[in-house]
Amino acid sequence: MKPKTSLQHRGERFADATEQLVVLAPQNDAQQFQSSLTKAGISKLAANRVEILQVNLGKLCNMTCDHCHVDAGPDRREIMQRAEIDACIQTLQNNPEIRTLDLTGGAPEMNPHFCDLVTSARELGCHVIDRCNLTILLAKGYEHLPEFLAANSVEIVASLPCYLEENTDSQRGDGAYSKSIEALLKLNSLGYGKTNSGLTLTLVYNPVGPNLPPAQKDLESAYRSELQTRFGIEFNRLFTITNMPVSRYLDFLIRSGDYSTYMEKLIKAFNPAAVSGLMCLNTLSIGWDGQLYDCDFNQMLELNLKSPAPSTIHEFNHDQLINRPIQIAQHCFGCTAGAGSGCQGSIT
Ligand code: SF4
Ligand code: SF4
Repeated sequence: MKPKTSLQHRGERFADATEQLVVLAPQNDAQQFQSSLTKAGISKLAANRVEILQVNLGKLCNMTCDHCHVDAGPDRREIMQRAEIDACIQTLQNNPEIRTLDLTGGAPEMNPHFCDLVTSARELGCHVIDRCNLTILLAKGYEHLPEFLAANSVEIVASLPCYLEENTDSQRGDGAYSKSIEALLKLNSLGYGKTNSGLTLTLVYNPVGPNLPPAQKDLESAYRSELQTRFGIEFNRLFTITNMPVSRYLDFLIRSGDYSTYMEKLIKAFNPAAVSGLMCLNTLSIGWDGQLYDCDFNQMLELNLKSPAPSTIHEFNHDQLINRPIQIAQHCFGCTAGAGSGCQGSIT
């Protein structure tokens, strides 16, 4: 059978979600979010700079987590090709104000050009972030990665949804927790997470159920104490990230009947103080096919940049990207709820 396109997947999701929409506008409706911004005295959301290039290297992944907003998995074939990788490197070279290359996927390490891209960006003096699922570091054919990442001083931002095995395995699949612990111990042995090593290890927490994350600082203390006591694991910091109601997490919400309750929770928790820290204000997201987006979530919803901004990485133009209006929609409430949320953890 022919695989379904992203649009077909979305169409089915919206059809199922309609039954649960009691007080909510359609998911791609910008009005409700704009109305919250307006009430907070913000007339429009616009990017003010491009400092971070966040590149999605493809949807291929060795895992199939419940909360995945990318719909990634081992059977996905979408992967960034050499021409787009070269265009990313060229963009970094031509635009010294972009200091950070943030690599995501899927499992970004599964892209055959991953190591080339990392070394090129490091030679240009960029800070490189690898959003790593940890288990890939143990997978056959990828065993060289921990040493490679350490040798290139790549920051590792690693998902570990909970310090308890049961919760992590329920979100990421059986055995994910024990493999993650093994990978963290390996990273520690190379200096990751150790004071003054220069090798930053950041952990990421996502709520297991349809809830907002707890306070980042408090949870970081609990992670530190639990992981140290149980395994002697060290890390530098913890990011709490709100689950966004898109893609596979949207499926999960719909299946469990929690979609409207979760959206109401996000909307009620709108926090105007989080707006100035939204990642779309200083980050440009690049899809596996080179298309440009305001953020990874808009990418998954295929909400491209608004014209006249360039549409692909081949046409990158910094002047046309600053001050561009951001494409907002209902899922944006996920970034502004409570303490706010983005790829750098909680905002406020
Ligand atoms: S959440 Fe991360 S590790 Fe899990 S399936 Fe998605 S991309 Fe892969
Ligand atoms: S989802 Fe978040 S980061 Fe993306 S455009 Fe909306 S507010 Fe900005």
